Amino acid sequence: MNGLMQAQQLTTAMLIRHAATNHPQREIVSRGADGALARSNWRTVERHARHIAAGLADLGLKPGDRVATLAWNRLPHLELYYGVSGAGMVLHTVNPRLFPEQIRYIIDHGGARILCVDADLLPIIEPLLADLPKIERVIVLADQADMPETRIADPISYQSLIGGPSAIAAWPDIDENSASALCYTSGTTGNPKGVLYSHRSTVLHAMSALANDSMSLGAADSILVVTPLFHVNAWGIPYSAAMAGSKLVLPGSALDPVSLYELMRDEGVTFSLGVPTIWFAFLDHLERERAIEDRQALKLDRIFTGGAATPRSLIERFRSLLGVETMQAWGMTETSPVATVCRPLAHHADLSDADQIDLRALQGRSVFGVELRIEDEDGHELPRDGEAAGLLKVRGPWVLNAYHGQPAGSALDAGGWFDTGDVAKIDPDGFLQITDRAKDVIKSGGEWISSIDLENAAVAHPKVAEAAVIGVAHPKWQERPLLLVQLHPGETCTKEEVMEHLADKVARWWLPDDVIFVEELPHTATGKLLKTELRKRHGDHFAAAADAVS
Ligand code: ADP
Repeated sequence: MNGLMQAQQLTTAMLIRHAATNHPQREIVSRGADGALARSNWRTVERHARHIAAGLADLGLKPGDRVATLAWNRLPHLELYYGVSGAGMVLHTVNPRLFPEQIRYIIDHGGARILCVDADLLPIIEPLLADLPKIERVIVLADQADMPETRIADPISYQSLIGGPSAIAAWPDIDENSASALCYTSGTTGNPKGVLYSHRSTVLHAMSALANDSMSLGAADSILVVTPLFHVNAWGIPYSAAMAGSKLVLPGSALDPVSLYELMRDEGVTFSLGVPTIWFAFLDHLERERAIEDRQALKLDRIFTGGAATPRSLIERFRSLLGVETMQAWGMTETSPVATVCRPLAHHADLSDADQIDLRALQGRSVFGVELRIEDEDGHELPRDGEAAGLLKVRGPWVLNAYHGQPAGSALDAGGWFDTGDVAKIDPDGFLQITDRAKDVIKSGGEWISSIDLENAAVAHPKVAEAAVIGVAHPKWQERPLLLVQLHPGETCTKEEVMEHLADKVARWWLPDDVIFVEELPHTATGKLLKTELRKRHGDHFAAAADAVS
């Protein structure tokens, strides 16, 4: 017997219609390339999106066709999110920080016919276009009067796309399982792989973000979107903010601490999200440059972090400097991304401050819809005892089943689980703790050492700005940890000082065999430590050291 409820399809058009109808005046603030702020609202975003839908159809695009973007967090990018997917086409967001060849590969593999580019990013794309034969037209995200000189043939200005007479009158009906957006993993090893989100997965993921034990978003929130719109859909914020009716603050390309602070202060920001490295720079700025009254002027309430482990020191500093709660999340491009979020349970209320902070340094519990499982190397499920560490697998309605261009189901094991490539523990309360990426785990004398735990312990030292630990081949122990440290500007520090600091924080046999001080640690285009590069540079460190001794 079927239920007798309306089988309305879950689509992105449903989100923008809701925002435009119920939160029409709620503001969207966006910083342009010249630093000036533009102001819009959900009603106007929806109207522009209907113009985009009509304009793309006029260019000959059909449902399912891809439209690529190379753009910062600015208004046009947000409007394209809705205009493209609402019309049944697929928004392919591309990360401008990647190497040119990766950008070319990703755009070509995605198969887009139209490319939308911020004017300040044109120099990246101009030399690549000759090798992108599938791209038919380029839309420059600028007003007609501001169209830059370019050697691209027939560029279209964004203004002419949204300013013309044609707009679709209503959003078309779309099957909720059709694709809405495409995003590639940065592929630190091998070629990048495309993750193709559906309307249904997008709406369900957005709905999940509103839950109290997830991002807890509401109409009263003002959200500063530090996470790029080109990286896993800014963790779903364009969609969840429309669902909640929140105000959005889009910082453009200016992610320096001063610009972020000013936006937070002037736009009444209550919630922001980003990778830990951004927040470290922000906190350094607050500590150095802002008086207590300045800090108290902020309405900031919660900071959502993810993409890499959030060290305890970050949580502690947000708390002591601003009284702000840090919510750590875990996820990946393949999981839309939010899969777990760390918020305390009722029985944590009486924990000491120090224990509260320890708790928040965990990656958290699965949000409804996402199932987690850890396995040993033979595929046997490991207990949720907070002790056993194993390969982390996930499944759920916003977890991928195959990469773009691959047969359905090909990214899953026989039980329908996706192997995340992470190593983790799960405690009896369901809190996840990521101990490493499987390829970064340090195998010493048959035991595993967590590089993340060591890094977190090292950055707790006040002189240390960032730390990376890699496993390096060792004649006796197979691998031993090598710690690379980047100090805060102007600081000096010795190996002994670092080792002494670590001594009471990790097991003795975990202590790194050596410490190297570096000017700067290498990062991927999404801000993660580039450990492949570090292994290349320092992979023979212990062999070299042994040679030097003998
Ligand atoms: P890529 O950089 O390959 O595109 P993603 O941006 O999808 O990857 O990042 C996913 C990976 O980032 C996860 O598999 C995990 O290793 C790491 N990660 C994400 N969030 C956290 C977290 N809170 N703690 C530790 N690692 C994290």
